[in-house]
Amino acid sequence: MMETITSKHTLQAVPVTQVQFTDQFWTSKIEINRTKTLAQCFRQCEETNRIRNFEVAGGLNTGDFDGIFFNDSDVYKVVEGAAHILASNRDPAIETQLDQWIAKFAAAQQADGYLNTYYTLVEPDKRWTDLPVMHELYCAGHLFEAAVAHYRSTGKSSLLDIATKFADYIDSVFGPGGKSGTPGHQEIELALVKLYEVTDEKRYLDLAAFFIDQRGQSGSDYSQDHVPVRQQSEIVGHAVRAMYLYAGVADVARYTGDEDLFACMDRIWKDVTLRKMYITGGIGPSGHNEGFTVPYDLPNETAYAETCAAIGMVLWSHRMFLLHGRSEYIDVLEQSLYNGLLSGVSLDGDNFFYTNPLSSHGQHHRQPWFGCACCPTNVVRFIPQVGGYFYASTASSLWVNLYASNQATVSMGEQMVNIHQESNYPWQGWTKLTLEPDKTNDFQLCLRQPNWAKQVGLKLNGQILQITSNSNGYLEITRAWRAGDVVEVNFDMSVERIIANPQAKANNGKLALRRGPLVYCLEATDNDGSVRDIALPRNSPLKAKFEPNLLDGVVVLQGPANRRISADWGTELYKTVSLDQETQITAIPYFAWDNRESGQMAVWLPESTILTEPKLQPSIASQGRPSASHVFGQLSAAIDGILPASSADQTHPKFTWWDKKGTQEWICLTFNEPVQISESSVYWFDDTGFGECRPPESWWLEWDNSGQWQPVKNPSKYGLQLDGFNSVTFDPVTTQQLRIVVELQDNLSSGLLEWLLN
Ligand SMILES: [Zn+2]
Repeated sequence: MMETITSKHTLQAVPVTQVQFTDQFWTSKIEINRTKTLAQCFRQCEETNRIRNFEVAGGLNTGDFDGIFFNDSDVYKVVEGAAHILASNRDPAIETQLDQWIAKFAAAQQADGYLNTYYTLVEPDKRWTDLPVMHELYCAGHLFEAAVAHYRSTGKSSLLDIATKFADYIDSVFGPGGKSGTPGHQEIELALVKLYEVTDEKRYLDLAAFFIDQRGQSGSDYSQDHVPVRQQSEIVGHAVRAMYLYAGVADVARYTGDEDLFACMDRIWKDVTLRKMYITGGIGPSGHNEGFTVPYDLPNETAYAETCAAIGMVLWSHRMFLLHGRSEYIDVLEQSLYNGLLSGVSLDGDNFFYTNPLSSHGQHHRQPWFGCACCPTNVVRFIPQVGGYFYASTASSLWVNLYASNQATVSMGEQMVNIHQESNYPWQGWTKLTLEPDKTNDFQLCLRQPNWAKQVGLKLNGQILQITSNSNGYLEITRAWRAGDVVEVNFDMSVERIIANPQAKANNGKLALRRGPLVYCLEATDNDGSVRDIALPRNSPLKAKFEPNLLDGVVVLQGPANRRISADWGTELYKTVSLDQETQITAIPYFAWDNRESGQMAVWLPESTILTEPKLQPSIASQGRPSASHVFGQLSAAIDGILPASSADQTHPKFTWWDKKGTQEWICLTFNEPVQISESSVYWFDDTGFGECRPPESWWLEWDNSGQWQPVKNPSKYGLQLDGFNSVTFDPVTTQQLRIVVELQDNLSSGLLEWLLN
């Protein structure tokens, strides 16, 4: 049962509506979110019939339900993002668009308050019959969040009325004495708390607590339904669901003072952050369950690390801070925010990562939209909220959690304090805060000392203050503050080299680079086209340098490193070690990768070249331009000079003819000048167990003899072996074009990982 509401924890976040950025970094991201991301989301919601579903459900249009059964949630998330934008920029076009959509939501809402276009249009008799799978309560939760944001930003209650009508209906169906059941995808819990905060209707808080205590019935890890929440100690299952759940649990714990929930949160927090989180703050390594596996399982190239999960980590971290008032939670929030979350969206604001790997052979690229559009719509609603994470207060203390130039108005009990931050974060560790309390008063100013800041300088009105952070990780100054008081804080932003716990085996022998809150990576385009063959010795001096014209202005790290020389192995099995080649590297912030031409990327860098991936000795093939009868995957992968680990290497960029099956197909290399060729080596791709590619039924080589395709003469065996090169020698030809012709097996396709010519 619910305990009575306590005032034990009085930390309040300063709402986003009270914070106006004046900096470069966030101001431009929020503006791009408004002009690009939001515009794209508006368009996609219309074009994919997500809005038409509401029109049809409301009798304003005709047609059938279109799309995925939880598509309503995307529309609500876009509305929430738009509403947050309106808080600082009352853009009339956005406001009109929202008014029009809200009218459609109202039309689609049933007389009893129910609102879900899928059920209304497709299975009107099946409401609430499949809570674990069908996401009705998840969609409802996103409606509530959108409604609260819209009300707070505009003062209009048009959407809030729809939300409370639906919430009242849900409250009449579920709860003690009513229907029970566990929603498969959490969201309703935290959303009901928001609805409670804006309406003061305690039934909503009670219902949130009810849903949390329903969990533990099905035994399913996937949706954290394996044991009751109060008994949970480890993070399991789907990462986004887990984050939304624990954000809701922390909310309820904050209002109820429920000690069991506090303890449960603390156990799970330790499990995630000490054993299951990427250095980017990304979580959920596995694509299989879109979530968690075993401790220290943190593969880099196949990292799932969904953009939504990083956003969820920020949501939960912030609530953990509000429970405990300790800086460690904001450290994680900042780590996820500036790395694994921001990487989810392109600098231009209109392409998105669903997964956020820490290593790539060049096969990962952001996309404008996804059939399941959770990530773009989470980005569009999150970015304009970021100001809401900067400050918190109690009646007697003002907490500064994040740094960037901004103007904020903080209410502390009866008192108002204007605070003016000047900073060049995240590029520099210096920040100046000017305080303007409405009357001179004693209060405590708490400045978060980030965990990465090993040294800190602090001045009050120009005088050096010698204090160290308190046990909560904050630099605490208590005095009678006067208007115009100035605090300057300077956090040391040296380049740090990070190593991982040896149990995180994917990172053994490697280090990562961090400066301030930013994790760095090497990208091929800055590093002569390849990074997998680079090692960074531990003692290599690295310099930080601001590059105003690169990637919208970033601090890069530069210095000497070693590149493994690609040896000509020929037929040799062993070789004397050759010396490394010295090279200059440029590392960029991880969040900014894949905004230029595609190529390799790595966050974790080997300390020695022995751990690098050698490039193959360039063959004649690398000078050719590839073309093919049909392409799935990357044509260029066939000649990228990267040695696969095996024919089943899923992380390796690949060229395939999928979904052609049983047909004759070809891949061709065209050269600018005639070249002499007498040997060809092919590494076949095979995805048995995953897909439909196997080696072909048969294959042969043809060369272009003055416009006539002719098979090469006296070829050795055309091999079909897996896990190695199939080399064919033949009478030399001099030609500008050579091609592989394949006969695909019946009902199967083919592909190749690498093709060499000599
Ligand atoms: Zn997502």
